[in-house]
Amino acid sequence: MAKTNYLGMTLNERLFTAGILDEFDAAIDDNNRARVVELLGSVEVDNPHGIADSLLGSGYVCWFCGEGIEQHGRQALAIGLSDLWSDQCDEPPTQIIYAHFDCAQKRMGGSSMALEQVVLFPPAPET
Ligand SMILES: [Zn+2]
Repeated sequence: MAKTNYLGMTLNERLFTAGILDEFDAAIDDNNRARVVELLGSVEVDNPHGIADSLLGSGYVCWFCGEGIEQHGRQALAIGLSDLWSDQCDEPPTQIIYAHFDCAQKRMGGSSMALEQVVLFPPAPET
């Protein structure tokens, strides 16, 4: 079978031509990011991850509750984890996890300390 030339086609035209438009719509409905990216890649779009982000949202998922994190929704955190004693002092390997602030506050209650909302989300200075 000849390779399809997708140049100059819109995304919908590409998906239709490839016969995967319904499958693509189903993947969007299911919020199946991996499948969306895969289908976009199969019709040779330049930036499948970027397009998936714009169709499905940022892709940030709360570590604790598993729900998506909206940029202008609830307060949210990026939490960096690394080996405290790493000998790579400047930039130790770090894992970043994302969480709604209220989920993190509930689940990361310390024995004697708490997450400090006022430090993490200082009130906007008055103008
Ligand atoms: Zn959450």
